[in-house]
Amino acid sequence: VWLAGAGPGDPGLLTLDALAGLAQADVVVHDALVDKRVLALARREARREFADKRGGRPSAVQADISKRLVELARQGNRVLRLKGGDPCVFGRGAEEAMALAQAGVPFRFIPGVTAALGALASADIPATQRGVNRAIILASGHGAEGGADDLDWAALARTGQPIVVYMAMHTLTRIATELANGGLSPQTPVAVVSSATTAQQRILETTLAHVVADVDAQGIETPALVVIGEIVAFRRRVLAAATAERRTTP
Ligand code: SAH
Repeated sequence: VWLAGAGPGDPGLLTLDALAGLAQADVVVHDALVDKRVLALARREARREFADKRGGRPSAVQADISKRLVELARQGNRVLRLKGGDPCVFGRGAEEAMALAQAGVPFRFIPGVTAALGALASADIPATQRGVNRAIILASGHGAEGGADDLDWAALARTGQPIVVYMAMHTLTRIATELANGGLSPQTPVAVVSSATTAQQRILETTLAHVVADVDAQGIETPALVVIGEIVAFRRRVLAAATAERRTTP
């Protein structure tokens, strides 16, 4: 079983290893977030299975997916388990790998371009920039309703390093409030990138103070990432530089 990342959407962001998996797999077990253009690259004889995690019992259903992978492998299939982005960045790749290992099924991780890196590139935002940041935080907004296992957002804010939040759309109000409580300036630049690297991609530029209202007003939909920090300002500056260059070129 290959536990592979499909990248954020654009097939150009697939690795050659993932492409080889698509060319060789007997069965492709994929998530909802895997782009149709990527699935279209599977060999014609390959069976495609949709690993659906709906139903509000994610852990129980996750166990079913792992069981299915073991079953398919034991039937002698070469299985490509294809996940959006990278399999191990908020992708539950570890759980499936453990289930396969426990069942004695050989597996291999194939990394993918995680949504954060795809979205940053599409929005002309550098993940790190000399003199601006020396770390970047990838955080999950899932569970940010203030439960016991929630992240300490105020502590993340105090690092002064940019934060990219996955699965943030339902908890954005609380995240923004907590980050402000942690001392993050209301003027901190924020970009929200939805459906990054697909034809539906949208990029919203705003600030910490206005992100919640702007996301609402513009009807930004999932999947989306929220990028918070000074790295976002690069987008403006590079655009301004390019425009100025065009003005001065005869
Ligand atoms: N394993 C995936 C993340 C899965 S969690 C990865 O490495 O990218 C699902 C979340 O990822 C979504 O809620 C959204 O926040 C983000 N996401 C995935 N694809 C995206 C895309 N094309 N554009 C913007 N965000 C995306």
